[in-house]
Amino acid sequence: VLYADIIIDISHEALDKVFQYRVPFSLAEETAPGTRVKVPFGKANRIVEGYVIRVSEKADYDPGKIKEIIGIVPDQHGIESQLIKVAAFLKKQYGGSMSQALRTVLPVRKKMKLKKQITVSLMIPAKEAESLLAFWDKRHYRARVRLLELLLKKGDVPYEEVRNTSGLSRKALEELSRKKVICMSESVRYRNPFGNLDVEDCPVTLHEEQQRIIDDFRSRNNLGTFLLHGVTGSGKTEVYLALIEIILSQKKQAIVLIPEISLTYQTVSRFYGRFGDRIAVINSRLSEGERSDQIERIQTGEADVVIGPRSALFAPLNHLGLIIIDEEHDGAYKSEQTPKYHAVDTAIYRATLAGASVVLGSATPSVESYEKALCGEYILWEMKKRATGALLPETKIIDLRDEFREGNRSMFSRELKEEIRRCLDRKEQMMLFLNRRGYAGFVSCRSCGEVRKCPHCDVSLTFHRPQKLMCHYCGYEETFDKVCPVCGLAHTAPFGLGTQKVEAALYQEFPEARVMRMDLDTTRKKHAHEKILQSFEAGQADILLGTQMIVKGHDYPNVTLVGIIAADLTLHGQDFRSAERTFQLLCQAAGRAGRGDKPGKVIIQTYLPDHYAIRNAALQSYQGFFQEESVFRACMHYPPYSHMMAILIQSGREEDAKIAGERIAKMLSNTQQGKKDPVAILGPGPARIAKVKDIYRQVLYLKHTSGEVLLNLEERLAPVVEGHPMFEKVRIQFDYEPVTLY
Ligand code: ADP
Ligand code: ZN
Repeated sequence: VLYADIIIDISHEALDKVFQYRVPFSLAEETAPGTRVKVPFGKANRIVEGYVIRVSEKADYDPGKIKEIIGIVPDQHGIESQLIKVAAFLKKQYGGSMSQALRTVLPVRKKMKLKKQITVSLMIPAKEAESLLAFWDKRHYRARVRLLELLLKKGDVPYEEVRNTSGLSRKALEELSRKKVICMSESVRYRNPFGNLDVEDCPVTLHEEQQRIIDDFRSRNNLGTFLLHGVTGSGKTEVYLALIEIILSQKKQAIVLIPEISLTYQTVSRFYGRFGDRIAVINSRLSEGERSDQIERIQTGEADVVIGPRSALFAPLNHLGLIIIDEEHDGAYKSEQTPKYHAVDTAIYRATLAGASVVLGSATPSVESYEKALCGEYILWEMKKRATGALLPETKIIDLRDEFREGNRSMFSRELKEEIRRCLDRKEQMMLFLNRRGYAGFVSCRSCGEVRKCPHCDVSLTFHRPQKLMCHYCGYEETFDKVCPVCGLAHTAPFGLGTQKVEAALYQEFPEARVMRMDLDTTRKKHAHEKILQSFEAGQADILLGTQMIVKGHDYPNVTLVGIIAADLTLHGQDFRSAERTFQLLCQAAGRAGRGDKPGKVIIQTYLPDHYAIRNAALQSYQGFFQEESVFRACMHYPPYSHMMAILIQSGREEDAKIAGERIAKMLSNTQQGKKDPVAILGPGPARIAKVKDIYRQVLYLKHTSGEVLLNLEERLAPVVEGHPMFEKVRIQFDYEPVTLY
């Protein structure tokens, strides 16, 4: 006998209320997660519809009291059913509960009141209105005269404006409406998160590499999973636009995922220019009302191209034909919350259900994706030249050890200084990149070496001007004090580099330069991010200094110099992806230079000039990097040549986390006894950041050449640890294919 867990009503509150029903034998085959069914509900056995979210062989209640499914409802839209299947996939692949998965996938159903707008227009011909105006004027009906003047001049006018300009009351207006002089019509107005975008489409003739890709897409009946590898500026966005046009012409719809940080006016406006009101944009900065409006537009079919970050992947489109993931290598595509899904794999799954294609695009694809393209799992599209014919910028590596040896104590090498000076003289713009915000890396006592740490997290505090110490993990703040709490001497001082410190040094060195700083601290307010970029684009600053926020996908023709202050900052991440991340950042940063008709120059300052990530980034050689990186990954049994599962154990007490970790390790190794090809179990040990917000973190890593083996192991282990009293005091999370190590 089979039992099915069913949710009756897909509202957010209902996701936790699951009802169990018996599956009649005749329906056993068709009943699966996502199936829409009719069931008797409540005392009166009212017949309602619901969705199956799980099928099992075990009854959770007295089987005698469990009712039976009446029948299966043919699913016309299929969209909720499809999303429920996606939720089931998330749960299976990435762990967590079904209700967590459903919450991730189903759009918030809490309906916001739509903003209604009333428009007033004339109901009589203009000639007639003019004579009426003259008549009213003679009688000194001033308010009515103003009304007619307004309507004659502007045509349709919003109600508020009519009230304000004419001074007529609602009643008076309604009377005129009854007399058929004017009419008041009501329409829904959607809140547009980008204001009124007035952008022009700049259609281009596709160049040869682009055209070949479009032809290939067509010849494959627009179906497949593709990796578009194109150098920065090669015209990937134009390819996306052309692919979407093909899909729309077939009455299908598209989703475009862009990392949140790049979802700016500049990127979105190109899509607006081509598709106008058919676009819905979703991002986390939308108010609840704006968000609800966008979802409504998607559900009613008014919008058929959805642009957004990771979560836009679950947009309720009924005729999905294409999912594009731009900057597919970006770490933001992996969710930090359970289920810790990756957008790339999830997109491929959703596309399979919908009969849609997936296009992954990047100048620096993830090692995983490129490996899959090489072995034929994805179809590889390459674009090697910049679309505008601009050359890739000249790149130079500066060895900071030489600078130091020759007595340069400044954070700018002599060559970078020289180039900044020349760039300022030419009245051109530059971007300086440093991957660390704040004033300094950490604060320590010069006398005893004590490093100031966050009391809640196992990380050092960062100095912010003028007198603040901040934890970048939990937001803890304290006032900076020169006196060391350990030795009592007043020798505590900031060490290392941060964006604030570079900014200060720039003003000292180049007092006439106009510097704009962009990092988490200057972009907290809504739209602050876009404002900075727009004013930089408008030439209101010479230097844009920032963290990785500035390297993403912006096109500034007047930028001719890119400086990387300390390229190796991200190399010491103790993470097997550090080299990859550094390479990607450097390539993207370098790609910002020389996008217009002027040649660009890139200066990379580093203490490790021979590191392959830095060398290959300077050469803009993805292939060169991939070759060395893939050898390293294969030797060390890291993904993509092996699969990984992280098990994170968290507890307010260090001891509890440790004991739980050891127990899990023991349980796991018991299951591997006598196996020919056992799963490698690493740990438990303290996580790289062993404490965050007063919670201690222990971590275990599992590695195996088969991902399936790891997922099966999780599937068996998770229910055991979930209900077990032994693990009561800890929180256990599974993370399949973690993107950063814990
Ligand atoms: P990517 O997304 O690969 O960085 P973009 O699509 O932003 O590249 O294109 C870079 C620049 O080249 C843009 O200014 C774009 O308008 C221009 N461009 C792209 N394709 C063409 C083309 N076929 N002809 C002329 N200009 C093009
Ligand atoms: Zn902290």
